[in-house]
Amino acid sequence: MINAPNFTISNGIKCSICRADIKERHKMYQTSLKLGVICRSCRKCFSDEDIEMIVNLFFAFGGYFGKFDKSEFYIDEVIVEFADQLENREINLHSANVKMWHKVLTHGITPQEFLEELSIYIEQI
Ligand SMILES: [Zn+2]
Repeated sequence: MINAPNFTISNGIKCSICRADIKERHKMYQTSLKLGVICRSCRKCFSDEDIEMIVNLFFAFGGYFGKFDKSEFYIDEVIVEFADQLENREINLHSANVKMWHKVLTHGITPQEFLEELSIYIEQI
């Protein structure tokens, strides 16, 4: 963006994580490998490591952060599904993890929130 004299961008750039419109250049953040751009609020919300993981996940499987209603997410369902897949040898551990994280993120739950909820859930077992 060296030769861009205008401060606003009008070509419909959307955040690679939450699909928010990005209109101002100072709100853009370039991810390292993929040609994704993320908004300032996602930049604040996620660590660099998370951003790479999330951008790759949506790049590969589609969807976006918060696509589904958070209230429709049940951690026990996710854990049971995860365990069933492994038990039935449907998919390997890596794929089960990828599927789980995709579900978590499309429901608008940050990795930090999920890990906190997961540790509470595990303590109760
Ligand atoms: Zn965003």
